[in-house]
Amino acid sequence: MIREKEKDLRVILDCDVLICGGGIAGVAAAIAAAREGAKVVLTEREYALGGLATLGLITIYLPMCDGLGHQAEYGLVEELLRLSIKHGAEKDCTKLFFEPHSEAERRVGPRLSAQFNPEFFALEMEKLLLELGVDIQYGTLVCGTVMKAGGKVDAVIVENKAERCAIRCKSVVDATGDSYVAQYAGAPQALYRSGNGLASWYYYLTGGQLSLRMYGLSDVMPGENQSSDSQDNDIDNVIAGSRRYHGLDGAELSRMVSDGHQYMLRDMLEHRESAPDFVPVTMSTIPLLRMTRRLVGAYEMDDGELGAAMSDSVGTFCDWRKRGPMYELPFRCLYSPAVPNLVVAGRNISVTDAMWDITRVIPVCAVSGQAAGTAAAMGDDFPALDVSRLQARLTAAGVRLHCGDILK
Ligand SMILES: Cc1cc2nc3c(=O)[nH]c(=O)nc-3n(C[C@H](O)[C@H](O)[C@H](O)COP(=O)(O)OP(=O)(O)OC[C@H]3O[C@@H](n4cnc5c(N)ncnc54)[C@H](O)[C@@H]3O)c2cc1C
Repeated sequence: MIREKEKDLRVILDCDVLICGGGIAGVAAAIAAAREGAKVVLTEREYALGGLATLGLITIYLPMCDGLGHQAEYGLVEELLRLSIKHGAEKDCTKLFFEPHSEAERRVGPRLSAQFNPEFFALEMEKLLLELGVDIQYGTLVCGTVMKAGGKVDAVIVENKAERCAIRCKSVVDATGDSYVAQYAGAPQALYRSGNGLASWYYYLTGGQLSLRMYGLSDVMPGENQSSDSQDNDIDNVIAGSRRYHGLDGAELSRMVSDGHQYMLRDMLEHRESAPDFVPVTMSTIPLLRMTRRLVGAYEMDDGELGAAMSDSVGTFCDWRKRGPMYELPFRCLYSPAVPNLVVAGRNISVTDAMWDITRVIPVCAVSGQAAGTAAAMGDDFPALDVSRLQARLTAAGVRLHCGDILK
């Protein structure tokens, strides 16, 4: 053991809303909070926005319709989908919904989804945040919290290229995917004990054609949206399907990354043997982790709550894996009474393991992000927040709160 010397830290910024993590959930939260008039700072460990969706090359915006002819998610989730394919889609399944078509046509056609270009999407998200006045702090790792009276976060400790320092805020959105702020602040947490399978996605060029190789674990809708690559998921076979990665330990994560790299290299070389013009053009640069650690909030939602009316709903969403009824997302899944000015968004919201697989995907992360950012701009005590005011703000921003609002 080594003891680090205590030292004073410079407070580099002071804001209303601090968003930690610039994945889809953090970006949605930042847009929502900035549009509510808050002074917003967003800290991101990497040097581009989008998290898994862009740097991880998870470039598939999974369906945001119920598969029965109804769009399931509204608000920023739709704005971000449109932004992701603004300069053209790699695969576009939006036309049935974004152009006039009957419910019957939508019911039998491909579900509302798209494959986007990660570079355009990351750069367009950054442009939008800059236009909204969001202060983006890249290369800035969240590594602690300083607490104040009432169990609230006073400041978040970060490390950037220059120094270990602090950012003071009235409220915080934890959109780190791994629930880091909640962990540092002492909020109750749950781990995903089954661990994550291995995946290493990359883009390649051959015959003048750019393609995404979803090598390893992928989220493919049964019978829909499949590419030929998604059929060939042999990493799991190669490593006997037994090695799982929890994703929170430094050494284990490094092993996960280097395992993925080495299988990916072998896969690339095999392809090059059969197609000499095969060239990899870009690879995922962050670990492809689905579920690691999450908040145990005021409420844990379960996948059995299909269609259940939630009086504190902050948005609707569907199950990407199957056609069927929708869900309503309770605001109680986004906060814990233990840390009243902290709200979570994205992969780390408070749900059961069964529900986690449904809420962790890009569209649902955008839904929880918009709700979290809007709430964060409205106050610093989420258990005491007047939810009807939050719901009114979300409705004004285009969100539909209840399944009945969509199905009527
Ligand atoms: C193999 C795989 C396949 C998938 N397939 C699909 C799919 O086809 N379609 C789909 O919709 N979803 C899919 N998903 C899920 C989806 O991509 C992610 O769950 C979603 O993008 C998560 O968004 P997020 O914003 O919650 O988290 P993330 O994208 O993880 O963003 C978190 C951000 O926080 C930053 N961060 C983390 N820790 C810190 C820190 N301490 N300080 C500062 N910044 C920090 C990270 O750099 C990152 O940018 C897949 C996931 C995996 C792993």
